[in-house]
Amino acid sequence: MPATIRFDHAPEAPRGDTQRTGCPFHDVRSMLRDVGLRPTRQRLALGWLLFQKGDRHITAEILHDEATRARVPVSLATVYNTLHQFTEVGLLREFAVDGSKTYFDTNVDEHHHYFVEGDNQVLDIPGDLTMAAMPAVPEGYEISRVDVIVRLRKK
Ligand SMILES: [Zn+2]
Repeated sequence: MPATIRFDHAPEAPRGDTQRTGCPFHDVRSMLRDVGLRPTRQRLALGWLLFQKGDRHITAEILHDEATRARVPVSLATVYNTLHQFTEVGLLREFAVDGSKTYFDTNVDEHHHYFVEGDNQVLDIPGDLTMAAMPAVPEGYEISRVDVIVRLRKK
């Protein structure tokens, strides 16, 4: 019998920002504190740009453009470092499309993606995926995460 692995959405996880004040800077500050990151000016500014618009998929280059337009003086290297720091503490999820293109997702719940070829657009796949027949895992390993990317193109 093939193993059926279901990817159900994780239950609503408390994100430690129960005291929403309506002030995005304050929310980012407490988000950073909750995960043990010092709320530096750059982390606050980038966090605010990242999280103010709800769930989104963003590359370091796009965030760097947004920061530049918002007159936040950061280098692309700093943007990369900050995105990786946010990922390490679980504020973001990182996934690669096309090998070299890395996206950061503000939705850290278990979910999968459509990638629209040509548009370079990433969309969440709603609901869960049922996958039959997962490969056998080599001795001494366990599956840490499964990222499914379904590539779309216009007909
Ligand atoms: Zn997503």
